[in-house]
Amino acid sequence: MSAPIFPRLALIGVGLIGGSITLAARRGGVAGHIAVASRTPETLARAEALGLGDSFHADPASAVRDADCVILCVPVGAVGAVTEAIAGALKPGAIVSDVGSVKAAVVALMQPLIPKGVHFVPAHPVAGTEYSGPDAAFAELFDNRWTILTPPEGTDPAVVDRLAAFWRGLGANVEVMSAEHHDLVLAITSHVPHLIAYNIVGTAADLETVTQGEVMKFSAGGFRDFTRIAASDPTMWRDVFLNNKEAVLEMLGRFTEDLTALQRLIRYGEADKLFDLFTRTREIRRGIIAAGQETEAPDFGRPHGKGEERS
Ligand code: NAP
Repeated sequence: MSAPIFPRLALIGVGLIGGSITLAARRGGVAGHIAVASRTPETLARAEALGLGDSFHADPASAVRDADCVILCVPVGAVGAVTEAIAGALKPGAIVSDVGSVKAAVVALMQPLIPKGVHFVPAHPVAGTEYSGPDAAFAELFDNRWTILTPPEGTDPAVVDRLAAFWRGLGANVEVMSAEHHDLVLAITSHVPHLIAYNIVGTAADLETVTQGEVMKFSAGGFRDFTRIAASDPTMWRDVFLNNKEAVLEMLGRFTEDLTALQRLIRYGEADKLFDLFTRTREIRRGIIAAGQETEAPDFGRPHGKGEERS
């Protein structure tokens, strides 16, 4: 077997994403020793019981000591405080990265705290589920999904290549773009869809003329698919919207205009225009299946295990 890309890897945060990185890194042989830190003793003990790492640290600074690569796997709102806590213990030449779902805000929070001689390459694995915590982790989470790297200008290309090779070793495809472009793309592909799901489930919960029982009973009509997304972690998503405000508001503005246009088509009985739009949107779905990001199998909402990633 060839030498691991990172002889010593440190993960700060060991929930769904951090835990899955430990399992995928083991499977791919891309990390040697994996040091793991978490804020609470409960999560740390659970990670240890599940074998998500080799050493377990209550103090993040002790986890990063001598690490070749350090990945922050905590909510976006926590990256500043965590970087502050580990900065003094980072090894010169180490790579510091993260997995946050927004990137420009993460760069603004972390970059000023990274010591000279330490590399900084933010990352976002576009893979997830609506489950959280170490028990939700599984090795296949990143398989054939995309991880986006957003290195700040002037980053050593060899360092970016090394981190890209690591993510490929976890099963992911890798793309490099600017943090700002990432935030715009993800606003429309992930953040606004989550907001729509939170909104429609919230609206249904507030209805008075339709009972909660009816909402549950007839949910297979479409509502059920929104509830899966709307069950996503509240802390993570609060932080996403607070930290990708501009791009989300930009995409939400366009969405609202298009929704108003649809409202008019319905009001004035514009059958052909509705039919044309629904035909175009069906093609998008078919394109996603062709790109290997979804399967053709019909989803009747039958029970599925955590190993069946659906985000
Ligand atoms: P998670 O399962 O809830 O795990 C979060 C981890 O962060 C836990 O170890 C938790 O520690 C720690 N943590 C929480 N709040 C903290 C704080 N204030 N200070 C320090 N540590 C804290 O979350 P996750 O789903 O893995 O998400 C982690 C990151 O991945 C987020 O930045 C998110 O944007 C990104 N991401 C998530 C998904 C997804 O679908 N879930 C997909 C791509 C990227 P304790 O449990 O010990 O408190």
